Amino acid sequence: MAQIWKDEDVSLEPLKGRKVAVIGYGSQGRAWALNMRDSGVDVIVGLRPNGKSWDQAKADGFEPLPIPEAAKKADVIVMLIPDMAQPEVYEKYIEPNLEEGNALVFAHGFNIHYGLIKPPKNVDVVMVAPKSPGPKVREAYLQGRGVPALVAVHQDATGKAWDLVLAIAKAIGCTRAGVIKTTFKEETETDLIGEQTVLVGGLMELLLKGFENLVELGYQPEIAYFEAINEAKLIMDLIWQYGFYGMLKRVSDTAKYGGLTVGPRVIDEHVKENMKKASERVLNGEFAKEWVEEYKSGSKKLTELMEKVKEHPAEKVGRELRKMMGLEEE
Ligand code: NDP
Ligand code: MG
Ligand code: MG
Repeated sequence: MAQIWKDEDVSLEPLKGRKVAVIGYGSQGRAWALNMRDSGVDVIVGLRPNGKSWDQAKADGFEPLPIPEAAKKADVIVMLIPDMAQPEVYEKYIEPNLEEGNALVFAHGFNIHYGLIKPPKNVDVVMVAPKSPGPKVREAYLQGRGVPALVAVHQDATGKAWDLVLAIAKAIGCTRAGVIKTTFKEETETDLIGEQTVLVGGLMELLLKGFENLVELGYQPEIAYFEAINEAKLIMDLIWQYGFYGMLKRVSDTAKYGGLTVGPRVIDEHVKENMKKASERVLNGEFAKEWVEEYKSGSKKLTELMEKVKEHPAEKVGRELRKMMGLEEE
């Protein structure tokens, strides 16, 4: 059974008298900085001057500092800029300002696990990975709830790294929902495998192929969009709230029978084999290497792939239908 901590198991004491620098003020950064400040933590924000988020931080009542200054002033440094930007920023601005007994906090294990950031031996290296986008981390906190998170310690230089990582999880509200003990390796690999095979990759591809199949059979794209894409949210909401059995209890008997007998023939063992192959590339570091190279050479392939999605017939008809339904456009 996983080890789980709740709010009442954790003290904020390890953060008392320590200055926490949140580096980055985007999705997670803004939520963490605001939640920690509201929890009584001494928070400063480190940003690149003239960046977009500088003004946002000011509007929220922070006095942002350039990253090296924030890192120098702080005892606890929280890395909340995009993962691919972290190694360079760390090397240039953070590492030279680290002191013995400081702590480095991550929200994802990627850079530490794949060795792209190698902190000195005399600092704590910990992780709180909220299982939710930043705005939800803030919204839940304001509602008196929290989002669950994974916590891990990569390096315990002070002997108190666990107390610290739990205190941070509490300060951002995550212990209210519960935080689960993991390792940088487990968090990184499951995150990558999950987003590639299921959440982003698998799910989107399933919906697109479902749409394409209907259109190729000669049905109207509008009908295909509703059937194969729009309705997926409604089913997912049921699974989210009630589980698979609970979802099945809430659809028609015809849908139950058809789904249970045909589903495994469509998503068959080949799909599982493909998932295993993709996982292998995460485990042996091939995917990380490929992505770092792609990022360093300007993310051209990523831009191309994004454009291709934008032009997909499902997106074209989807944009019209979402407008019709009064849903927000990006
Ligand atoms: P964002 O993309 O929202 O980060 C944007 C912030 O990073 C801005 O303040 C931006 O500043 C700054 N920034 C971007 N590039 C640079 C750079 N080269 N140098 C200095 N500052 C830069 O990041 P996220 O919040 O999405 O991710 C932060 C961490 O949280 C990552 O480790 C991620 O894996 C993790 N995480 C993210 C989740 C999510 O849902 N987003 C969920 C769980 C974990 P400026 O305004 O100047 O551009
Ligand atoms: Mg991820
Ligand atoms: Mg139906």
